[in-house]
Amino acid sequence: MRSLISKIHLHIAASIVTLGIIGVSGHILWTDYLDTWQDAENASRNVLTVIARNLSNNVELLDLSLRGAAEGLRQVGFHQLPADFQYRMLFDRSTVAPFMGSLIVVAENGNLIADAGPVILPRDISVADAPYFTVHKQNPNLGLYVSRPYRSKVRPGDFSIAFSRGLSHPDGRFAGVVMGSMPLSSIDSLLKELILGQRSAINLFRGDGILLTRYPFDESQINQDFRESSHVQRLLQHKSGTFASISPIDGVHRILSFQRLEKYPLVVTVALATDEVLASWEKKAFVLSTMTGALCFAVIGLATMFQRELKRRTRAETKLRRIARTDDLTGLPNRRGFRETFEREWRQAIRSGSPLSLLYIDVDYFKNFNDRYGHGDGDEVLRSIARALESNIRRPRDIAARHGGEEFAVVLPETDAGGAQIIAENIRQAIAAIGIVHGGSPYQILTVSIGAATAQPLRGTESTILLEAADAALYRAKRAGRNAIHQ
Ligand code: GH3
Ligand code: MG
Ligand code: MG
Repeated sequence: MRSLISKIHLHIAASIVTLGIIGVSGHILWTDYLDTWQDAENASRNVLTVIARNLSNNVELLDLSLRGAAEGLRQVGFHQLPADFQYRMLFDRSTVAPFMGSLIVVAENGNLIADAGPVILPRDISVADAPYFTVHKQNPNLGLYVSRPYRSKVRPGDFSIAFSRGLSHPDGRFAGVVMGSMPLSSIDSLLKELILGQRSAINLFRGDGILLTRYPFDESQINQDFRESSHVQRLLQHKSGTFASISPIDGVHRILSFQRLEKYPLVVTVALATDEVLASWEKKAFVLSTMTGALCFAVIGLATMFQRELKRRTRAETKLRRIARTDDLTGLPNRRGFRETFEREWRQAIRSGSPLSLLYIDVDYFKNFNDRYGHGDGDEVLRSIARALESNIRRPRDIAARHGGEEFAVVLPETDAGGAQIIAENIRQAIAAIGIVHGGSPYQILTVSIGAATAQPLRGTESTILLEAADAALYRAKRAGRNAIHQ
């Protein structure tokens, strides 16, 4: 019973410790994971803010140039001015826009009127079919238009985006277009200064989902229409935000922050590859969970070992206890075993209010027997008597014990004097019936005398009164001539 309890306690303790270890390391990993994620979000937001601000400023400068040129054209008498004055009126403000490729003014028929830029353009160029021309022609109140990326006619191979505004005659009729181009290479040079992970990506979308440019630059991706992608729709529907998803462009899972520019239909995204973000956390998680696993194994292993040892000891103790209470010769409980059982039954009888009987059994003329037939035969007789006692007690709580020498005792719980008398008689007859020849006895066979006593134990009375009563009864049986039972 005690060992069972300690076994359960040990299991519970080991489980609590194991759960505690797992709980603590789980908590550490989880908060660390959240921190890592938060750091990545912050990093991408910071980069995003820098890009958005820079890009916004550059587009604004470019737009100022466009407005400046448009204003110059509207000046009364502009067309009468000498060519160099005209040039200055148109392009004076354009020199400050660092991201500008070229700036052109186009007449209502699509022909180039004036240009500023690194290359002098031929006058006979017509841009009547360019989107930035047709959109303004169709909608004079469009405001600033951002084109899809296109390959520059002026600098072959270089991609640009056009920013354009429509011009109008004083009466409101369409008068042409002023357009400034922004080479993608200038945006790329801004983005490549920012330090991000190997597989990070920065995208610039037009407000309708067209990918304008991307870092790292990939020509095959730009100018693609992503408006059908749910990923991009998410970008276009909100002003700014952060989410994790698989890129529709290259299939890499990333944590992405996006922001729409305040005044222009442009959306910037900064996306960090999730596996790069989590790489160091994963390493830590691996080490910590390995250590946690090892610790838990150690705890469970130690608990199991401890428990085995406990079980072994308990078994050994039980065995020792049994040996200490067993008589070698007969295998019956010895005097110590008898006394423990007797005391227990005494207390039980007090609780239950039932009678308790005790028999003392002593072999008659046994000294003579030994003298005649030898000690070995004497021992054999004691064993036979033990078997006879065992076969004459029936109830599970009845106990036969070797009280010492050639004396035995039988404890009979819940047995009154009448019952004790019957069992005593059965025992006396059974031993006589064995028919062991005993020439030194007047009966010529081996017999026993039995003292029987019965008590109704009460609280406060000593158990010794029953022992003494049985002893006295045995003495009387001997005095009466032996082979007898007295109560
Ligand atoms: P009584 O009828 O009055 O009981 O006579 P008794 O000879 O049996 O009585 P007593 O108590 O004088 O003698 C007990 C004898 O029991 C002494 C010893 O020779 C014998 N005896 C005690 N223990 C053992 C034992 O373990 N083995 C054997 N063979 N004999 C034992
Ligand atoms: Mg004796
Ligand atoms: Mg005797």
